[in-house]
Amino acid sequence: MGNGWGLSTVSVHAGGRNYEGSLTTPLFQTSTYLLTPQAYQAIEKGKPREGWVYTRWGNQNQLAVAEKVARLEGAEDGLVFSSGMAAISSLLLALLRKGDHLLTTRDLYGGTYSFITQELPSRGIEVSFTDQRNPRRVKEDVRPNTKVIFFESLSNPLLKLVSLPEIGEWTREEGIHLVIDNTFTTPINLRPLDWGADVVVHSCTKYLNGHSDLMAGAVVGRKEVLNKVWEVMVKLGGCLDPHACFLLERGMKTLALRVKRQNENGLRVAEFLESHPKVLRVIYPGLTSYPQRELVDRTLSGYGGMVTFQVKGGDNRALQVMAKLKLIKEATSLGGIDSLISMPTNTSHHHLSVQEKAELGIEPGLLRLSVGIEDADDLIGDLASALR
Ligand code: PLP
Repeated sequence: MGNGWGLSTVSVHAGGRNYEGSLTTPLFQTSTYLLTPQAYQAIEKGKPREGWVYTRWGNQNQLAVAEKVARLEGAEDGLVFSSGMAAISSLLLALLRKGDHLLTTRDLYGGTYSFITQELPSRGIEVSFTDQRNPRRVKEDVRPNTKVIFFESLSNPLLKLVSLPEIGEWTREEGIHLVIDNTFTTPINLRPLDWGADVVVHSCTKYLNGHSDLMAGAVVGRKEVLNKVWEVMVKLGGCLDPHACFLLERGMKTLALRVKRQNENGLRVAEFLESHPKVLRVIYPGLTSYPQRELVDRTLSGYGGMVTFQVKGGDNRALQVMAKLKLIKEATSLGGIDSLISMPTNTSHHHLSVQEKAELGIEPGLLRLSVGIEDADDLIGDLASALR
């Protein structure tokens, strides 16, 4: 039903279940189910994913919201997790075995970087780094044992855009799993599966839920892959509680609307910052100064709500600017309706050495702003007085 729907309609309607005539999916707040003959049958066949047995294995609210994420991304199947990190760790442990190689980049959310560089090598999995903007480099850096390539669609915090068309087409031909963390772009601005990615992962804590009031993650892709991920999820236990699923499903109904507003606000704020004498540089895909403009025009439907900028005068000056903001709150997360700001060097990327930060481009005075859905004029006014 509704295969030709636009993404606003999918955000509202996909996945929802009308039990006993309800308009919205009721909350199935239960940890377990009565052991009916169907439940016993599912257990006996070794396929408890197909019957209601125990909520870590599956629950109606998980099914509803996972289907909504899958439909938005154009995927066959989906699973939801207790956080973005639960989704990423379960996915990578499902796809990689001892002796396999993971190709990725250092431009990653700090938690993902720590998991990949600390947990995978100790399990005999090789990890190396490449440049997600350069398809030729990616090809050169692939090894005979490369099983997974993992990139963020727009990287955290430097907003480097993955060169999807070329990398996607080629990895599909080679049979390598291309995993894209689509947290920053959301399916409203980019659908990586349309460009050849094999699996998409989200921190639903961010834009998908959009209200900065819950933790959740999702993995979507082919059923064959998702069945493997499900097995690991059940063993590691990172399933999403039904109440969080219920809230996430409600939050996601306004996804398209929120992201559209964040796209508009993001551009207004980025243009203001770029024109400000106390700002050294602004990184935002909608600016003409953004280095990958041609790729932006080819692959993005919106520029997003993430604006990274560097204030003149280094980290101390940047801390002063944050402290002076009144409307925009100093907090480390993103993607919600409230605008938030943080300094990557002392939050998401604090674990990197000075040299690693410099190599990546995390320079003194760099701030990461997640633009919310407030009035753009009010956000600009707040930034203007803080910079003054
Ligand atoms: N991926 C990205 C791009 C993120 O920014 C984050 C968190 O900030 C995560 C994954 C991890 O998600 P969570 O905090 O929900 O575990």
